[in-house]
Amino acid sequence: MSDCIFCKIAAGEIPANFIYQDDEVVAFKDTNPQAPVHILIIPKKHVANILEADEALLGTLFGKVKKIAASQGLSEKGFRTVVNTGDDGGQTVHHLHLHLLGGRFMQWPPG
Ligand code: 5GP
Ligand code: ZN
Repeated sequence: MSDCIFCKIAAGEIPANFIYQDDEVVAFKDTNPQAPVHILIIPKKHVANILEADEALLGTLFGKVKKIAASQGLSEKGFRTVVNTGDDGGQTVHHLHLHLLGGRFMQWPPG
């Protein structure tokens, strides 16, 4: 999608601090981190959010979490994964993304 910032990041047209890439997925550091480790994992294909994603794509996205979390040293103490959807979900970038947060204790419930 031509005016989508995450499509541009996935295509290498906008710089990002990449930490993982494969044929279907890229992962990069969030520019406004909410934890010592804050990574965004996105499909290369443009899909707005969970409501527009099929099960296979969601499986692909979540399937990367374990490996990427391990690469960031989060396996032992754990981490949080978040997917914001739509207005009430607080989604601001309308290209499906999974937040991987770690490196500190995460309060619950979220605000
Ligand atoms: P959302 O609120 O849509 O779930 O999260 C969007 C996230 O994308 C936010 O945490 C925000 O800091 C991050 N973000 C927005 N624009 C950019 C960008 O250009 N580069 C990177 N690396 N992260 C971005
Ligand atoms: Zn996009």
